Formats: sequence, structure tokens, C-alpha cells
Amino acid sequence: NYPEIGSPARTQAILNRYRLSAKKSLGQNFLVDLNILKHIVTTAALTKQDNVIEIGPGIGSLTEQLAKAAKQVLAFEIDENLLPVLAETLAPYKNIDIIYQDILKTNLPEIVRERFGEGTPLKVVANLPYYITTPIVMDLLANPVQFDAIVVMMQKEVADRLNAQPGTKPYGSLSVIVQQQNDVALSFIVPKTAFIPQPKVDSAIVKLTPRQDDAEQPFNHKRFIGFVRGCFMHQRKTLWNNLLGVFGKQPAIKDQIKTVLEQLAINPADRPEQLAVSQFVSLTNAFHKINL
Ligand code: SAM
Repeated sequence: NYPEIGSPARTQAILNRYRLSAKKSLGQNFLVDLNILKHIVTTAALTKQDNVIEIGPGIGSLTEQLAKAAKQVLAFEIDENLLPVLAETLAPYKNIDIIYQDILKTNLPEIVRERFGEGTPLKVVANLPYYITTPIVMDLLANPVQFDAIVVMMQKEVADRLNAQPGTKPYGSLSVIVQQQNDVALSFIVPKTAFIPQPKVDSAIVKLTPRQDDAEQPFNHKRFIGFVRGCFMHQRKTLWNNLLGVFGKQPAIKDQIKTVLEQLAINPADRPEQLAVSQFVSLTNAFHKINL
């Protein structure tokens, strides 16, 4: 009969009872706005057929809402001090499992196979620890597990990068790598006042859904990531100069790069941020074809 965990009064009561102070080093900012928590669940369009992976349950406010909407919730929490707290707050829900482990050191494909088997609908829903937002998103995308959707809260500035269009300031390697695989939707902005303690910056909810079109695919995902990062290494330099940085400056290599750019009608004097996602894919594949 308690109020929901994410209500400000209940959260404060839990923090007081366990003498918990949020650990800054672990990115602990607890959401205390039930409307936003419910909006996250709506954005993920959860049904009772969906299994959900949550990263960083904290004291369980989002976990509770996920458990109500989904079939099964599997959460990863690095902070073992939260074990007694979550054991109490989430006791009423039988469809939650928590693994006390660093998500970046987790063998997710293996755990997913063990817990959920193959081919069940699987979504990631989380209020991410901000100090490792990018590594977590990159890991999820490199994962062989295919998620039906990834709905994550992050700093607004990172959300803007995921969602950026070519030619705009936030457009960079992260935008290209994420958009190559996913449709990106910025669902809504969350003010810092929705958290205890308040972070320094506003946040945003982002939804990533696997792209369904039949666009050209990179020959190798890992190599694509390395290539795109190389192209953006010196953002203010031209694509040409960045490509020399990636492949080398020997005259024979310069000739090969020139030929590829001509074939693809890409101007070597362009800056990397002027290229569309599809052009990076064409480039990596063309260079691969000539063994560069
Ligand atoms: N889900 C809660 C909420 O919305 O109020 C807490 C979110 S808080 C922003 C981030 C959570 O991630 C914290 O509980 C923190 O301890 C946890 N965390 C930090 N680093 C982690 C890691 N490497 N692996 C798993 N959890 C992590």
C-alpha cells in the first residue's frame, strides 16, 4: 500500500531509512517524477510479451513501472549497497531479477540467451549513469543481441549528438554510428529538477529502433566504427586530410583514396560533418574492396 517508489516522498523516505546518499561517482541521480517515469514506459510501448533489460535500477523507481508493464525485467546494478534496498522496495514484484554487476563487464548475449531464450521480444529501458552513457550505448549497438527498441535517458547534449543531422554542430562519429543502424527519436526533455540529487544539466529520453530499410550495410561493424572515428578525428580538417590520417600518406595510397572519392562523387575538400551516413558506409566498403 506504499506510494510508488518514484514519488518524491517515498524516495526521500527510502533514502533516509537506509541512510543512503547518492554516489556521484556512479552517476546516481534518482528520478522523482512519476509522470516522467510513466512517459518512459509509454515511449517504450511495453506489452506483457516484452522482456526488458534495465541498466542501473538505483532504488527501483523505474524498475517498478517496468515490472507493471512488461513480462520480465532483468536489471544490472553495479552498487551492491543497493541490494537490501531493492530487496525491500521491489519485493511485491515477482517478475524482476537483479544482477549486481558492471554492465560494461557483462556478457549480455550469454545472459540473455540463458534467461530469455532466442527470439523473444527484448527492449532496453534505462535512466543511464551519465558518466558512461556513450560506452553503454556503443556496447548495446555492437551487441549481437537484436533489441526491438532501446529507450534511454541521457544528458540532453549527448541526445542531441545521437539525433544530429549532417552539417550541424553536434553531428559527429556518434551520430553516424548510431544512425547507421537505428532510427533515432528524441522523445522528450527532462528538467534537472526531476531528480534527487539534481544533475548539472537537463536530460532527454531517446528512442532507438532498428532501421528496417534496405540501405547498404558496412562490410564489418567494428571496422566501420574505427573508420568513422578516424574520419572525424580532426573535425576541422577536410575529409581528405582525415583519410590520410586513417590510411597513410604514401603517394600510392593517396592515388587510391583519390580514385575512391571520385567514384563516389565525394569532394575531398568537404569536412567530415558534411557527409551523410550512407556516404560513410559507401566509403568504408569501397576502401575495403581495394584492400585499403
Ligand atoms: N533507475 C534509477 C532512477 O531512474 O532513478 C537510477 C538511475 S541513476 C541515473 C544510474 C544508476 O546506474 C545508479 O543506480 C548507478 O549505481 C548505476 N550504475 C552506475 N554505473 C553502472 C554500471 N557500470 N553498471 C550498472 N549500473 C551502474
